[in-house]
Amino acid sequence: MNIDDILFHLGESTPFGGTSASPPIYQTSNFIFPTLDQMKTALQHEDHIPFYTRGANPTVQVLQEKIAALEETEHSLIFASGSAAITAAIISQVKAGDHIVCISNPYSWTKKLIEGILAKFSVASDFVEASDTEAILAHVRENTRLIYLESPNSWTYEMQDIEVITTFAKQQGIRTILDNSCASPLYQKPARYGVDIIVHSSTKYLSGHADVVSGVLCTSSDIYLSIFKNEYMTFGAIISPLEAWLMIRSLRSLELRMEKVSKNALEVARFLEKHPKIAHLFYTHSESFAQPELVEKYLSGNGGLMTIDLKTNNAHQVEQFCNTLKRFKLGCSWGGFESLAFPAITTMSSLNYNKPDTAINRIRLYVGLEDSGLLIDDLTNALEIID
Ligand SMILES: *Cc1c(COP(=O)(O)O)cnc(C)c1O
Repeated sequence: MNIDDILFHLGESTPFGGTSASPPIYQTSNFIFPTLDQMKTALQHEDHIPFYTRGANPTVQVLQEKIAALEETEHSLIFASGSAAITAAIISQVKAGDHIVCISNPYSWTKKLIEGILAKFSVASDFVEASDTEAILAHVRENTRLIYLESPNSWTYEMQDIEVITTFAKQQGIRTILDNSCASPLYQKPARYGVDIIVHSSTKYLSGHADVVSGVLCTSSDIYLSIFKNEYMTFGAIISPLEAWLMIRSLRSLELRMEKVSKNALEVARFLEKHPKIAHLFYTHSESFAQPELVEKYLSGNGGLMTIDLKTNNAHQVEQFCNTLKRFKLGCSWGGFESLAFPAITTMSSLNYNKPDTAINRIRLYVGLEDSGLLIDDLTNALEIID
Protein backbone atom coordinates (compact mmCIF):
# COMPACT_ATOMS: atom_id res chain seq x y z
CA MET A 1 0.00 0.00 0.00
CA ASN A 2 1.08 3.55 -0.72
CA ILE A 3 2.79 5.07 2.33
CA ASP A 4 0.66 8.23 2.14
CA ASP A 5 -2.52 6.18 2.19
CA ILE A 6 -1.31 4.35 5.30
CA LEU A 7 -0.23 7.46 7.19
CA PHE A 8 -3.07 9.77 6.16
CA HIS A 9 -6.16 7.63 5.51
CA LEU A 10 -6.03 3.96 6.40
CA GLY A 11 -8.46 2.90 9.12
CA GLU A 12 -10.05 6.32 9.41
CA SER A 13 -13.26 6.05 7.38
CA THR A 14 -14.96 3.37 9.46
CA PRO A 15 -16.44 3.23 11.98
CA PHE A 16 -16.49 7.01 12.22
CA GLY A 17 -17.90 8.10 8.87
CA GLY A 18 -18.36 11.58 10.26
CA THR A 19 -16.86 14.84 9.14
CA SER A 20 -13.88 15.26 11.47
CA ALA A 21 -10.55 15.35 9.63
CA SER A 22 -8.82 13.79 12.61
CA PRO A 23 -10.28 10.66 14.25
CA PRO A 24 -12.06 11.18 17.55
CA ILE A 25 -10.49 10.04 20.82
CA TYR A 26 -12.76 7.40 22.31
CA GLN A 27 -11.87 8.24 25.87
CA THR A 28 -14.05 5.53 27.33
CA SER A 29 -13.36 2.38 29.29
CA ASN A 30 -16.69 0.82 28.49
CA PHE A 31 -19.08 0.32 25.59
CA ILE A 32 -22.86 0.15 25.91
CA PHE A 33 -25.17 -2.12 23.89
CA PRO A 34 -28.81 -1.52 22.94
CA THR A 35 -29.64 -5.24 22.98
CA LEU A 36 -28.37 -8.39 24.64
CA ASP A 37 -27.72 -9.94 21.22
CA GLN A 38 -25.38 -7.13 20.27
CA MET A 39 -23.60 -7.38 23.60
CA LYS A 40 -23.12 -11.11 23.08
CA THR A 41 -21.73 -10.65 19.58
CA ALA A 42 -19.31 -7.99 20.79
CA LEU A 43 -18.01 -10.21 23.57
CA GLN A 44 -17.48 -13.08 21.16
CA HIS A 45 -15.41 -10.83 18.90
CA GLU A 46 -13.75 -8.79 21.59
CA ASP A 47 -10.53 -8.32 19.59
CA HIS A 48 -12.27 -6.22 16.93
CA ILE A 49 -15.68 -5.17 18.27
CA PRO A 50 -15.26 -2.60 21.06
CA PHE A 51 -16.58 -4.17 24.27
CA TYR A 52 -14.16 -2.97 26.92
CA THR A 53 -11.06 -0.81 26.25
CA ARG A 54 -8.57 -3.40 27.57
CA GLY A 55 -9.62 -5.29 24.42
CA ALA A 56 -10.65 -3.12 21.45
CA ASN A 57 -11.05 0.66 21.34
CA PRO A 58 -11.91 2.50 18.08
CA THR A 59 -9.08 5.05 18.36
CA VAL A 60 -6.54 2.32 19.07
CA GLN A 61 -7.95 0.32 16.14
CA VAL A 62 -7.11 3.12 13.70
CA LEU A 63 -3.53 2.93 14.89
CA GLN A 64 -3.49 -0.88 14.74
CA GLU A 65 -4.43 -0.85 11.06
CA LYS A 66 -1.77 1.67 10.19
CA ILE A 67 1.00 -0.12 12.10
CA ALA A 68 0.14 -3.51 10.59
CA ALA A 69 0.17 -1.98 7.11
CA LEU A 70 3.54 -0.30 7.74
CA GLU A 71 5.04 -3.66 8.69
CA GLU A 72 3.15 -5.52 5.94
CA THR A 73 1.58 -7.96 8.41
CA GLU A 74 -2.07 -8.97 8.81
CA HIS A 75 -2.48 -7.54 12.32
CA SER A 76 -0.88 -5.50 15.07
CA LEU A 77 -1.37 -4.99 18.78
CA ILE A 78 -0.40 -1.79 20.59
CA PHE A 79 1.04 -1.83 24.12
CA ALA A 80 1.87 0.59 26.92
CA SER A 81 5.59 0.21 26.18
CA GLY A 82 8.03 -1.54 23.87
CA SER A 83 9.01 -3.71 26.78
CA ALA A 84 5.39 -4.82 27.25
CA ALA A 85 5.10 -5.73 23.54
CA ILE A 86 8.35 -7.70 23.68
CA THR A 87 7.28 -9.50 26.87
CA ALA A 88 3.93 -10.53 25.38
CA ALA A 89 5.59 -11.69 22.15
CA ILE A 90 8.23 -13.82 23.86
CA ILE A 91 5.98 -15.32 26.53
CA SER A 92 3.42 -16.25 23.88
CA GLN A 93 5.96 -18.57 22.25
CA VAL A 94 7.50 -20.55 25.12
CA LYS A 95 6.59 -22.85 28.00
CA ALA A 96 8.58 -24.63 30.72
CA GLY A 97 11.25 -26.90 29.27
CA ASP A 98 11.69 -24.84 26.06
CA HIS A 99 14.87 -23.13 24.88
CA ILE A 100 15.37 -19.69 23.33
CA VAL A 101 18.27 -18.65 21.09
CA CYS A 102 18.74 -14.90 21.45
CA ILE A 103 21.31 -12.50 20.00
CA SER A 104 24.11 -11.64 22.41
CA ASN A 105 23.19 -8.05 23.17
CA PRO A 106 19.47 -7.38 22.84
CA TYR A 107 17.76 -4.43 24.52
CA SER A 108 18.66 -4.66 28.22
CA TRP A 109 15.16 -5.43 29.54
CA THR A 110 14.66 -8.07 26.85
CA LYS A 111 17.74 -9.78 28.23
CA LYS A 112 16.33 -9.40 31.74
CA LEU A 113 13.10 -11.13 30.71
CA ILE A 114 14.82 -14.07 29.03
CA GLU A 115 17.76 -14.52 31.38
CA GLY A 116 16.32 -13.32 34.66
CA ILE A 117 12.59 -13.93 34.62
CA LEU A 118 11.89 -16.77 32.18
CA ALA A 119 14.71 -18.83 33.69
CA LYS A 120 12.60 -18.95 36.87
CA PHE A 121 9.94 -20.76 34.84
CA SER A 122 12.41 -23.29 33.40
CA VAL A 123 12.83 -21.68 30.01
CA ALA A 124 16.50 -22.04 29.03
CA SER A 125 18.37 -19.70 26.71
CA ASP A 126 21.61 -19.07 24.86
CA PHE A 127 22.86 -15.62 23.89
CA VAL A 128 24.86 -15.84 20.66
CA GLU A 129 27.12 -13.30 18.92
CA ALA A 130 24.66 -11.10 17.03
CA SER A 131 26.73 -10.69 13.87
CA ASP A 132 27.23 -14.45 13.45
CA THR A 133 24.22 -15.92 11.66
CA GLU A 134 25.86 -19.36 11.44
CA ALA A 135 26.53 -19.45 15.19
CA ILE A 136 22.93 -18.49 15.92
CA LEU A 137 21.70 -21.48 13.92
CA ALA A 138 24.35 -23.72 15.46
CA HIS A 139 22.91 -23.04 18.93
CA VAL A 140 19.47 -24.39 18.04
CA ARG A 141 18.64 -27.50 20.08
CA GLU A 142 15.87 -30.03 19.94
CA ASN A 143 13.80 -28.01 22.44
CA THR A 144 14.45 -24.60 20.86
CA ARG A 145 11.07 -22.95 20.22
CA LEU A 146 12.10 -19.36 19.59
CA ILE A 147 14.89 -17.39 17.92
CA TYR A 148 14.94 -13.78 19.09
CA LEU A 149 16.63 -11.20 16.85
CA GLU A 150 17.39 -7.48 16.92
CA SER A 151 18.81 -6.39 13.60
CA PRO A 152 20.43 -3.89 13.80
CA ASN A 153 20.65 -3.59 17.57
CA SER A 154 20.57 -0.19 19.17
CA TRP A 155 24.17 0.26 20.42
CA THR A 156 26.62 -1.43 18.08
CA TYR A 157 24.22 -2.31 15.23
CA GLU A 158 25.15 -5.93 14.57
CA MET A 159 22.88 -7.45 11.94
CA GLN A 160 21.71 -10.96 11.16
CA ASP A 161 20.95 -12.50 7.78
CA ILE A 162 17.24 -12.63 8.59
CA GLU A 163 16.18 -14.71 5.62
CA VAL A 164 18.72 -17.45 6.34
CA ILE A 165 17.50 -17.67 9.94
CA THR A 166 13.76 -17.69 9.16
CA THR A 167 14.18 -20.31 6.42
CA PHE A 168 15.94 -22.61 8.86
CA ALA A 169 13.48 -21.83 11.67
CA LYS A 170 10.43 -22.61 9.54
CA GLN A 171 11.87 -26.00 8.58
CA GLN A 172 12.30 -26.78 12.29
CA GLY A 173 8.95 -25.38 13.43
CA ILE A 174 10.68 -22.62 15.42
CA ARG A 175 9.17 -19.14 15.67
CA THR A 176 11.18 -15.95 15.09
CA ILE A 177 10.75 -12.53 16.70
CA LEU A 178 12.65 -9.44 15.51
CA ASP A 179 12.94 -6.09 17.29
CA ASN A 180 12.83 -3.64 14.36
CA SER A 181 12.96 -0.42 16.42
CA CYS A 182 16.35 0.67 15.14
CA ALA A 183 15.58 0.49 11.42
CA SER A 184 11.93 1.64 11.73
CA PRO A 185 9.20 0.04 9.59
CA LEU A 186 10.06 2.47 6.80
CA TYR A 187 13.61 1.23 6.32
CA GLN A 188 13.33 -2.50 7.01
CA LYS A 189 10.42 -4.90 6.32
CA PRO A 190 11.15 -8.11 8.25
CA ALA A 191 7.82 -9.73 7.26
CA ARG A 192 9.09 -9.90 3.66
CA TYR A 193 11.80 -12.25 4.91
CA GLY A 194 9.49 -14.47 6.92
CA VAL A 195 9.81 -13.13 10.49
CA ASP A 196 6.79 -14.34 12.50
CA ILE A 197 6.49 -11.49 15.03
CA ILE A 198 7.94 -8.00 14.62
CA VAL A 199 8.15 -5.77 17.70
CA HIS A 200 9.01 -2.10 18.16
CA SER A 201 9.53 0.34 20.91
CA SER A 202 7.16 2.84 19.32
CA THR A 203 8.35 5.27 21.99
CA LYS A 204 11.13 5.89 19.46
CA TYR A 205 10.53 6.84 15.80
CA LEU A 206 6.85 5.88 15.62
CA SER A 207 5.89 8.35 18.37
CA GLY A 208 8.81 10.60 17.61
CA HIS A 209 8.18 13.55 19.92
CA ALA A 210 9.60 12.36 23.24
CA ASP A 211 6.13 12.45 24.81
CA VAL A 212 4.69 8.91 24.55
CA VAL A 213 5.92 5.54 25.83
CA SER A 214 4.43 2.71 23.76
CA GLY A 215 5.15 -0.53 21.93
CA VAL A 216 3.80 -2.48 18.98
CA LEU A 217 3.68 -6.11 17.89
CA CYS A 218 2.97 -7.06 14.25
CA THR A 219 2.10 -10.56 13.11
CA SER A 220 -0.19 -12.94 11.22
CA SER A 221 -3.89 -13.43 11.99
CA ASP A 222 -3.51 -16.68 13.91
CA ILE A 223 -0.61 -15.56 16.11
CA TYR A 224 -2.39 -12.25 16.68
CA LEU A 225 -5.59 -13.89 17.88
CA SER A 226 -3.73 -16.19 20.22
CA ILE A 227 -1.71 -13.34 21.75
CA PHE A 228 -4.85 -11.20 22.01
CA LYS A 229 -6.81 -13.87 23.89
CA ASN A 230 -3.93 -14.76 26.19
CA GLU A 231 -1.06 -12.35 26.89
CA TYR A 232 -2.65 -9.11 25.67
CA MET A 233 -5.90 -9.40 27.63
CA THR A 234 -4.23 -10.93 30.69
CA PHE A 235 -1.26 -8.58 31.08
CA GLY A 236 -3.47 -5.59 30.29
CA ALA A 237 -0.49 -3.47 29.26
CA ILE A 238 -2.59 -1.46 26.79
CA ILE A 239 -2.04 1.99 25.35
CA SER A 240 -4.60 4.61 26.37
CA PRO A 241 -6.92 6.05 23.68
CA LEU A 242 -5.33 9.48 24.12
CA GLU A 243 -1.83 8.13 23.56
CA ALA A 244 -3.01 6.10 20.57
CA TRP A 245 -4.35 9.33 19.13
CA LEU A 246 -1.01 11.06 19.77
CA MET A 247 0.69 8.26 17.88
CA ILE A 248 -1.74 8.60 14.96
CA ARG A 249 -0.79 12.27 14.88
CA SER A 250 2.91 11.37 14.99
CA LEU A 251 2.53 9.03 12.04
CA ARG A 252 1.41 11.91 9.79
CA SER A 253 5.00 13.15 9.82
CA LEU A 254 6.83 9.81 10.12
CA GLU A 255 8.23 9.86 6.60
CA LEU A 256 9.25 13.53 6.80
CA ARG A 257 10.91 13.07 10.18
CA MET A 258 12.80 9.98 9.07
CA GLU A 259 14.08 11.78 5.98
CA LYS A 260 15.37 14.72 8.02
CA VAL A 261 16.88 12.54 10.74
CA SER A 262 18.58 10.35 8.14
CA LYS A 263 19.99 13.27 6.16
CA ASN A 264 21.31 14.88 9.36
CA ALA A 265 22.74 11.63 10.66
CA LEU A 266 24.65 10.91 7.44
CA GLU A 267 26.22 14.36 7.63
CA VAL A 268 27.16 13.96 11.29
CA ALA A 269 28.54 10.46 10.58
CA ARG A 270 30.70 11.72 7.70
CA PHE A 271 32.11 14.32 10.07
CA LEU A 272 32.78 11.86 12.93
CA GLU A 273 34.21 9.18 10.66
CA LYS A 274 37.26 11.22 9.80
CA HIS A 275 37.68 13.13 13.06
CA PRO A 276 41.10 12.47 14.71
CA LYS A 277 39.61 12.29 18.24
CA ILE A 278 37.26 9.45 17.33
CA ALA A 279 38.71 5.95 17.72
CA HIS A 280 35.71 4.23 16.13
CA LEU A 281 32.32 5.09 14.71
CA PHE A 282 29.59 2.43 14.80
CA TYR A 283 27.04 3.29 12.14
CA THR A 284 25.28 1.08 9.64
CA HIS A 285 25.99 3.55 6.84
CA SER A 286 29.62 4.36 7.61
CA GLU A 287 32.43 3.10 5.41
CA SER A 288 33.87 1.05 8.27
CA PHE A 289 30.64 -0.81 9.08
CA ALA A 290 31.44 -4.52 9.35
CA GLN A 291 28.40 -5.91 7.52
CA PRO A 292 27.81 -3.80 4.39
CA GLU A 293 26.27 -6.71 2.48
CA LEU A 294 23.48 -7.04 5.09
CA VAL A 295 22.90 -3.29 5.06
CA GLU A 296 22.55 -3.52 1.28
CA LYS A 297 20.18 -6.48 1.50
CA TYR A 298 17.90 -5.34 4.33
CA LEU A 299 18.05 -1.58 5.00
CA SER A 300 16.57 0.95 2.63
CA GLY A 301 17.54 3.90 4.85
CA ASN A 302 19.80 4.78 7.75
CA GLY A 303 18.07 6.54 10.65
CA GLY A 304 19.66 8.63 13.39
CA LEU A 305 21.44 6.27 15.80
CA MET A 306 25.24 5.94 15.89
CA THR A 307 27.85 5.20 18.54
CA ILE A 308 31.34 6.63 18.99
CA ASP A 309 34.42 5.50 20.89
CA LEU A 310 36.38 8.58 21.89
CA LYS A 311 40.14 8.39 21.51
CA THR A 312 40.81 8.42 25.26
CA ASN A 313 40.81 6.03 28.21
CA ASN A 314 40.43 8.86 30.65
CA ALA A 315 37.04 8.83 32.38
CA HIS A 316 37.39 12.45 33.39
CA GLN A 317 37.77 13.51 29.74
CA VAL A 318 34.74 11.45 28.77
CA GLU A 319 32.75 13.23 31.46
CA GLN A 320 34.01 16.61 30.33
CA PHE A 321 33.13 15.80 26.73
CA CYS A 322 29.57 14.95 27.78
CA ASN A 323 29.20 18.01 29.96
CA THR A 324 30.44 20.27 27.17
CA LEU A 325 27.78 19.13 24.68
CA LYS A 326 24.98 21.68 24.46
CA ARG A 327 22.68 20.62 21.63
CA PHE A 328 23.09 16.91 22.26
CA LYS A 329 21.25 16.50 25.56
CA LEU A 330 22.27 13.79 28.00
CA GLY A 331 19.48 11.21 27.93
CA CYS A 332 18.77 7.57 27.32
CA SER A 333 16.07 7.25 24.71
CA TRP A 334 16.05 8.17 21.01
CA GLY A 335 13.76 8.60 18.01
CA GLY A 336 12.34 11.97 19.04
CA PHE A 337 13.02 15.50 17.81
CA GLU A 338 15.84 16.09 20.27
CA SER A 339 19.44 15.01 19.72
CA LEU A 340 20.79 12.87 22.55
CA ALA A 341 24.02 11.51 23.97
CA PHE A 342 23.98 8.37 26.12
CA PRO A 343 27.45 7.65 27.57
CA ALA A 344 28.09 3.96 28.32
CA ILE A 345 29.86 5.13 31.47
CA THR A 346 26.48 5.95 33.06
CA THR A 347 25.76 2.23 33.28
CA MET A 348 29.10 1.36 34.94
CA SER A 349 30.48 1.53 38.44
CA SER A 350 33.60 3.69 38.66
CA LEU A 351 35.31 0.66 40.25
CA ASN A 352 35.27 -0.98 36.82
CA TYR A 353 36.60 1.94 34.81
CA ASN A 354 40.07 0.45 34.45
CA LYS A 355 39.08 -3.13 33.71
CA PRO A 356 39.77 -4.46 30.24
CA ASP A 357 36.75 -4.62 27.90
CA THR A 358 34.93 -1.75 29.58
CA ALA A 359 34.26 0.80 26.89
CA ILE A 360 34.22 3.83 29.16
CA ASN A 361 34.91 5.95 26.08
CA ARG A 362 31.76 4.76 24.29
CA ILE A 363 28.87 7.15 23.70
CA ARG A 364 25.70 6.53 21.77
CA LEU A 365 24.48 9.54 19.81
CA TYR A 366 21.01 10.05 18.46
CA VAL A 367 20.82 12.69 15.74
CA GLY A 368 17.40 14.33 15.87
CA LEU A 369 15.69 16.98 13.81
CA GLU A 370 18.03 19.89 14.48
CA ASP A 371 20.15 21.07 11.59
CA SER A 372 23.29 18.97 11.15
CA GLY A 373 25.52 22.07 10.95
CA LEU A 374 24.54 23.05 14.49
CA LEU A 375 25.08 19.51 15.74
CA ILE A 376 28.49 19.27 14.09
CA ASP A 377 29.51 22.59 15.70
CA ASP A 378 28.44 21.18 19.06
CA LEU A 379 30.52 18.01 18.57
CA THR A 380 33.52 19.98 17.25
CA ASN A 381 33.49 22.07 20.38
CA ALA A 382 33.15 19.14 22.78
CA LEU A 383 35.82 17.05 20.99
CA GLU A 384 38.37 19.76 21.74
CA ILE A 385 38.31 18.45 25.33
CA ILE A 386 40.04 15.23 24.22
CA ASP A 387 43.80 15.61 23.95
C1 LIG B 1 13.71 1.51 23.89
C2 LIG B 1 13.83 0.17 23.32
C3 LIG B 1 13.03 -0.89 23.79
C4 LIG B 1 12.08 -0.73 24.96
O1 LIG B 1 11.01 0.07 24.64
P1 LIG B 1 10.19 0.94 25.73
O2 LIG B 1 9.19 1.63 24.88
O3 LIG B 1 11.18 1.85 26.38
O4 LIG B 1 9.61 -0.02 26.68
C5 LIG B 1 13.12 -2.11 23.15
N1 LIG B 1 13.98 -2.31 22.14
C6 LIG B 1 14.78 -1.33 21.67
C7 LIG B 1 15.70 -1.61 20.54
C8 LIG B 1 14.73 -0.07 22.26
O5 LIG B 1 15.55 0.89 21.82
